[in-house]
Amino acid sequence: MLPTLETLEAALGGLAGRIILLRADFNVPLDDDGQITDDFRIRAALPTISWLTEREASVVACSHLGRPQGKVERRYSLAPVQAKLRELAPSVDLLENLRFDPGETANEARFTQTLVEGCDGYVNDAFGASHRAHASIVGPPALLPSGAGRLLTTEVEVLSGLRHKPKRPFVAVLGGAKVSDKLGVIKALVEVADEVVIGGGMCFTFLAAQGHGVGKSLLQQDQLEACAELLDAGAPIRLPTDIAVLAPGDRVVQAGVDLRSDWQGLDIGSGTAAEFSDLILHAGTVLWNGPMGLFEDARFASGTVTVAQALADSGAFTVVGGGDSAAAVQQFGLSAAMDYVSTGGGASLELIQQGDLPGLQALRESVANQQASRQG
Ligand code: ADP
Ligand code: MG
Repeated sequence: MLPTLETLEAALGGLAGRIILLRADFNVPLDDDGQITDDFRIRAALPTISWLTEREASVVACSHLGRPQGKVERRYSLAPVQAKLRELAPSVDLLENLRFDPGETANEARFTQTLVEGCDGYVNDAFGASHRAHASIVGPPALLPSGAGRLLTTEVEVLSGLRHKPKRPFVAVLGGAKVSDKLGVIKALVEVADEVVIGGGMCFTFLAAQGHGVGKSLLQQDQLEACAELLDAGAPIRLPTDIAVLAPGDRVVQAGVDLRSDWQGLDIGSGTAAEFSDLILHAGTVLWNGPMGLFEDARFASGTVTVAQALADSGAFTVVGGGDSAAAVQQFGLSAAMDYVSTGGGASLELIQQGDLPGLQALRESVANQQASRQG
């Protein structure tokens, strides 16, 4: 069992006056002026922070931001997050970007020691980083009584629920740029979902595996065989039947799935979008990860908008995972219409794929949990 905040509270015999190290995921998007463009991930940590501060614990939060490669780089400073926290949770202290020290990603015991020093307990609420065996994720649970925060607990419940008891039919909608990023999750999903619907740049490797011409569309040659194997094995995969392409002279053309050599497929076609919507509207559960096309360009956003709208209108239990898909849903103003929007991109895919994450395993093996299970 994953230890919770309550497990930690019991292990410490109360939290008043205790110093709690909180690993959060404050890896927020910043614009060129260093302003936070979306504070979703900061707000997502607030339930855990208030639970701790209501019990008079002192919270020392820590997070990574971007990929500063183990040295101090000003543009990756957590100062903008600290300013935001001063508004939202004034009593919380925030350490500087964990990845300013190479010991974080290298999972060095020395670095874990500096993190836990002076702390009485540890909470992991950083779902988006829990697929990494980094020092701040897997180190502290071996040294301090520990628990999962509310966000982490909910993410795990929702995403594990998809694997275990999805309301059927379960439709998984996958898109995004690279099939290599998602092949593992596709393989896991074809085992549990009733339909795996594929759009986005990665549909072209599948279409090419079926022998279609994909022109100048995204194609991963080295994944052709793996895609062909899945299709040959009779996996319940559904591919687009029409495509919106960019043709010479900057023309946008609706085409079938056999593209001319100078065409570039950048969105699913309108027929496909309608077909995918229909599946979503009649589903019991929908998981969506990855845009259906180059939605950042308005000419190729329509497949993604249509799918997002279908999720919003569907009576199904709808879950959105993936950084760019979550951003798309937010951009379309549809976040509130989804049942759940995951804060983790890679982490949500890995949890669906493996059923576990290094950060979860570390918590299960933590000091507090061992004590609790001995007593219980
Ligand atoms: P997520 O973050 O939701 O998991 P990905 O990172 O896998 O999604 O992919 C998102 C990116 O894929 C977007 O920037 C989108 O523009 C791009 N994309 C989707 N379809 C296509 C396409 N047909 N051609 C080129 N890029 C595409
Ligand atoms: Mg992405």
